[in-house]
Amino acid sequence: MNIEQQINLLREGLRKHNYNYYVLDNATISDYDFDIKLKELQQLEEAYPEFYDANSPTLRVGGEITKNFNTVKHDFRMYSLANSYSKEDLEDWETRIKKLVDGDVEYTCELKYDGASISLTYENGTLLRAVTRGDGYQGDEVTTNIKTINSIPLKLKGNYPPRFDIRGEIVLPFEGFNKMNEERIEAGEEPYRNPRNTASGSLKLQDSSEVAKRPLDCLLYHIVGERLPISTQFESLEKAREWGFKVPKIAKLAKNISEVFEFIEYWDIHRHNLPYETDGVVVKVNSLFQQEELGYTAKAPRWAIAYKFKAEQVSTVLNEITYQVGRTGAITPVANLEPIELAGTIVKRASLHNADQIEKLDIRVGDTVFVEKGGEIIPKIIGVNLVERPSNSTLTKYIKHCPECQTELVRQEGDAKHFCPNTDGCPPQIIGRIQHFISRKAMDIDGLGSETVALLVQNELIRNYADLYELSVDQILPLERMAEKSAENLIAGVNASKNIPFERVLFALGIRFVGETVAKKLAKHYKNIEGLANASEEELINVDEIGDVIAKSVIDFFASEEHIEIINRLKKNGVQLEISEEELASQTDRLVGNTFVVSGVFIKVSRNELKQLIEQNGGKVSSSISKKTSYVVAGDKMGPSKRTKAESLGVPIISEDDFLLMIS
Ligand code: AMP
Ligand code: ZN
Repeated sequence: MNIEQQINLLREGLRKHNYNYYVLDNATISDYDFDIKLKELQQLEEAYPEFYDANSPTLRVGGEITKNFNTVKHDFRMYSLANSYSKEDLEDWETRIKKLVDGDVEYTCELKYDGASISLTYENGTLLRAVTRGDGYQGDEVTTNIKTINSIPLKLKGNYPPRFDIRGEIVLPFEGFNKMNEERIEAGEEPYRNPRNTASGSLKLQDSSEVAKRPLDCLLYHIVGERLPISTQFESLEKAREWGFKVPKIAKLAKNISEVFEFIEYWDIHRHNLPYETDGVVVKVNSLFQQEELGYTAKAPRWAIAYKFKAEQVSTVLNEITYQVGRTGAITPVANLEPIELAGTIVKRASLHNADQIEKLDIRVGDTVFVEKGGEIIPKIIGVNLVERPSNSTLTKYIKHCPECQTELVRQEGDAKHFCPNTDGCPPQIIGRIQHFISRKAMDIDGLGSETVALLVQNELIRNYADLYELSVDQILPLERMAEKSAENLIAGVNASKNIPFERVLFALGIRFVGETVAKKLAKHYKNIEGLANASEEELINVDEIGDVIAKSVIDFFASEEHIEIINRLKKNGVQLEISEEELASQTDRLVGNTFVVSGVFIKVSRNELKQLIEQNGGKVSSSISKKTSYVVAGDKMGPSKRTKAESLGVPIISEDDFLLMIS
């Protein structure tokens, strides 16, 4: 046997043992023998680097350092899930579905694992990359870290498709989590809060050998790709198991919502015995064809819904109410609680939302309050235990002045919150706006963190985001804990942000009510900042999906001379304030004013590409046929009820080729 064969044999063997141990939970050799073989392989690989393999089992131990995680665009968007809380919610969901698809509908029920979502891309049977969910469109590439998770196969078995993404959840099982915390406490360190955050934090550690030490696991549940050999969700779980993935056995095929509910009722009780955290059940339409027919809303698939288990509740004492000032000047009252354990984490603070909420529940310092944790990170106070109220307790008086700058607070008609109007002089607002500007979904400035922003503002080096572009290394070097390298990175990151496209710059400006989606719409419509700045309120309201609240906020923003000056400086410094030539060129308005419904399976382009083409050419995509529909683009296997509906409304049905002609 030559060296190469010897190396391959060891890799094969280790891979198999690894699979038996971590995926099947059924060890076939001792840990000791495993380590011996691993060491042997490591030595051979070191001596013969020509046989390097990016997916060798030796990479499980980590060692590679990632300084900056690359942002990668997902081939297929990672959506969120709609939530439901009762059997009625689920029945309503079923009713909606049945209006949109024909025939019987079956459901796959799975547990909703509470971890960090991940998308793994496999090409020709090997792991190509692992990307975090990020904003759903793009995430961070964390492949080296992911390779250290033993239950994730680096090479697949069986008859897998040439390329696909598989999605799931990185979790930290309770046992491993508790062990990590015991060690931390012994070492005098603060214990980790909860398994979910620890799992997601682990993915972004720079040193992969640190990740390797954490007992992370990966549970997979969703395969996506073009032309896959799968026709139902339940089948895809089985297929994924065959290819070597760890797919929980807990999954049920249900014929109707009653059967779904049996699964939910069972697991609501028995989930407490599972080795990892779950926070609900995910119900998915089983047929992938029906899934395609149902499609997606702006945020989530129509073909799936999460059922959230009832949150756990505890009671504890409210020690103090403090007030936080956000980047928009909004004041949020915060309850500081006697620390208490809730759903596996220690809770010390809870949001009180606003003055009305405090008044409505008559929450007072010294009260014993009921705290509940739902899906949110910050728990909520849902009531007061009046029996325990101290006799000397006094009504809570909401603050009248900003706790940060002492300006008198204002509260506008219709606003639930109080605001500090000192926009340009209130430190948390100044800092918050710049922090928003540099954040991932906005300008994504690498090398500049939230704390550094605060430091820069406190040292009076910057007052607004335009100042960032005029900073120099010499200015920031004297700052506390600022090394030469980090100073250079900061400046490089600022410079790199000049390539961020206009729509994200627009979001970064932090105009109230202009979120990501609205920013995209406005960028597309106005094409440059001048167009937007000069638009009247009326014009703005006429833009699709822009209401009067947004319009007014945009007008207010551009009415400020200070803002105009900041924007002029951004422009002078090379920040993108118009959409790029390329983007302009790829867009046409051939389909403006037309609404399309897409149904069936297509040959030349995928369904997603078809939808993109419609939007790029100025058309709108809608999911259900109505009088407003201009055309139905029908592929193979178009749903018969859609056809009847289109015919009865007189909506023209066109083929894929007809459509492609339309835009050519
Ligand atoms: P949410 O973050 O509340 O919108 O819930 C959506 C997330 O649930 C997805 O992004 C997944 O990461 C996660 N999830 C956990 N278990 C499942 C499952 N079995 N099927 C689909 N998504 C799941
Ligand atoms: Zn203030």
